[in-house]
Amino acid sequence: MATPAMIPDRRLFGPGPSNPYPEATAGLGLPLLGHLDPAFLAIMDETCAMLRTVWGTDNARTLPLSATGSAGMEAAFVNTVGAGDVAVIAVNGLFGERMCDVAARCGAQVVRVDHEWGQPIDPQRVAEAHPSPKVIAAVHAETSTGVRSDIAALGALKGDALLITDAVTSIAGIELRADDWGVDVGYAGTQKCLGVAPGLAPFTINDRAFERRIEHPQSWYLDLGLLGGYVGEASQKHGGRTYHHTAPTAMVVSLHAALQRILAEGLDTVWARHAEAGELLQDGLQKLGLELFAAQGYRLPELTTVKVPDGVDSAAVRRELLDRYDIEIGAGAGAYASTVWRIGLMGHNARPDAALLILAALADILG
Ligand code: PLP
Repeated sequence: MATPAMIPDRRLFGPGPSNPYPEATAGLGLPLLGHLDPAFLAIMDETCAMLRTVWGTDNARTLPLSATGSAGMEAAFVNTVGAGDVAVIAVNGLFGERMCDVAARCGAQVVRVDHEWGQPIDPQRVAEAHPSPKVIAAVHAETSTGVRSDIAALGALKGDALLITDAVTSIAGIELRADDWGVDVGYAGTQKCLGVAPGLAPFTINDRAFERRIEHPQSWYLDLGLLGGYVGEASQKHGGRTYHHTAPTAMVVSLHAALQRILAEGLDTVWARHAEAGELLQDGLQKLGLELFAAQGYRLPELTTVKVPDGVDSAAVRRELLDRYDIEIGAGAGAYASTVWRIGLMGHNARPDAALLILAALADILG
């Protein structure tokens, strides 16, 4: 059986989780608080306020859902679409595909707008896919391909539809302005550029979407109407906090610590740090003779996709990185599982030293 001392100290340069900010790790070791303790509720309120800043929103209903990013996706759809509602979904990678599955399970009529993997979405084509959808959904940063899409352009074209945006890999890594861009419902995850362990899904929904929500969604746990009684500013307006579920208090304290650290550095500076580290890595990979996968001009700095050179065993290289250098990188997603690597420099890892380390290790192994 593995004892804690035997757990290897990895450099997590895959598509997530990333190595947490030291402040987030320290937060996990603080004394545990009860989920209705006033001291904890104050931390929760501050966490929601800081989440508003990283989302770029004033939405009162901005909160960390107690589950991973996929639960954020479920919450977004289960609260907005029911039987027969039209959901237009832009698909340019694995997570767009997953959105289609989730929306279909809610009974929605899914209008899927496919794009080539490695390319950004075409906002015009997505907006024209149906005359009157209830929701339009797109992934801001496609982790499966390393591509950034223009959510602001989609927001400008959404018409009467509600815009759902997946910001799991973009939040606190690249520019994100939910309100300015017309995002009505957004969900994210803690384990990438927020630099916290996996386990929470920062979520935001504006009044427009909340008023048009499904009244009794088939998920009790993710019913935003019920959750409002426990977290977020909306709850205080309606007289105090009531028990909904046992919030993972240690995780919220850890997220609180990471957000404080991010905002102390400054969001613009954090975005610039990600941009710089990503550029260093992408330039370095090309100097090694490797070819990048994502379309030029749309590459995410925090998640780089690179083509595995012909004749190279992609899994063997990843294994050697792990065994010799304690470095984790990701395999490609879907059809690209053995032909693409995914290298993340997210949150605490978005630093030049991390970029140089992975470049040196890859150069050594590829010879
Ligand atoms: N959406 C995107 C863009 C992701 O990258 C991920 C996870 O990698 C998810 C959704 C799902 O999040 P989780 O794995 O935390 O459930």
